[in-house]
Amino acid sequence: MAEILKSAIVTGGASGIGEATVLMLAEQGYHVWAGDIQITDESQSAFTKRGIQFRHCDVRNEQQIIDLISNAAKATGRIDLLVNNAGVGMVKAITDVAAEEWDLCLDTNLKAAFLTCKYAIPRMRPAGGSIVNIASNAGLLPRAHDPVYSISKAALVALTKSLALCHSVDKIRVNCVCPGPVGDTGMINADIAAAADPVAFRQSLIDASPLARAAQRMISPREIAAAVVYLASEQSQMITGTAIAIDGGKSLGVPPGVPTPQ
Ligand code: NAD
Repeated sequence: MAEILKSAIVTGGASGIGEATVLMLAEQGYHVWAGDIQITDESQSAFTKRGIQFRHCDVRNEQQIIDLISNAAKATGRIDLLVNNAGVGMVKAITDVAAEEWDLCLDTNLKAAFLTCKYAIPRMRPAGGSIVNIASNAGLLPRAHDPVYSISKAALVALTKSLALCHSVDKIRVNCVCPGPVGDTGMINADIAAAADPVAFRQSLIDASPLARAAQRMISPREIAAAVVYLASEQSQMITGTAIAIDGGKSLGVPPGVPTPQ
């Protein structure tokens, strides 16, 4: 029997969680299209070796999203999997956030997912498909230090659930993964590098997540990618509208060892 070719798109696919997802999907036999605003020579060469297509795509640009989706659909006439992964952090008190910074964060982390879904969903009909949004533990339990980022990710979780309901009739499943904190990613590496004491800051990230603390290591990009592969697979055919936290328990509540008033 001829193998069925499946097309997958990963935004922000050239680094960190996105790159790990792109590589794992290619290992699984997907025809993968990675869109990003930048790529290193090393990543480009890893993609070329595996037949992964890279396209420049700024997810804040509607036309570039349309181009990425129509190119990715050329091989099979359809899209089977869309992973909305592109994202930017925003660590600032609300009083210090400029209107343009709000737009940058919300346009990249939220509006882009609206636009990719708008153009990918018609390409998933009538057979169905899967959409996986990379939200954050910040979308489950807001944090004091990054309110705009937390808002963008909480809204992405809400978008996930609404679209899961709306498009169940199309056999399109919509789920999200809520990671954090994940090592070997552009986002976390930048935060560590900017810290006054990078070693202590990295340790504080490990300590903030109960299981990471117990294992004395950060969560890896491949651990997030594995959840995306599962949510795209036949094994998860009855799962939609979920938000899977892969944060070592960080969003559960107060971790052990922290004194609390009763
Ligand atoms: P990363 O910086 O390695 O990856 C983000 C990618 O998005 C980069 O390749 C970047 O170029 C791309 N990108 C940024 N703006 C874009 C735009 N306008 N158009 C297209 N691509 C754009 O960091 P990461 O941690 O791998 O981030 C991936 C996703 O995971 C993000 O949505 C982030 O919010 C989420 N996340 C990360 C963590 C973590 O601890 N690293 C935790 C929770 C959620």
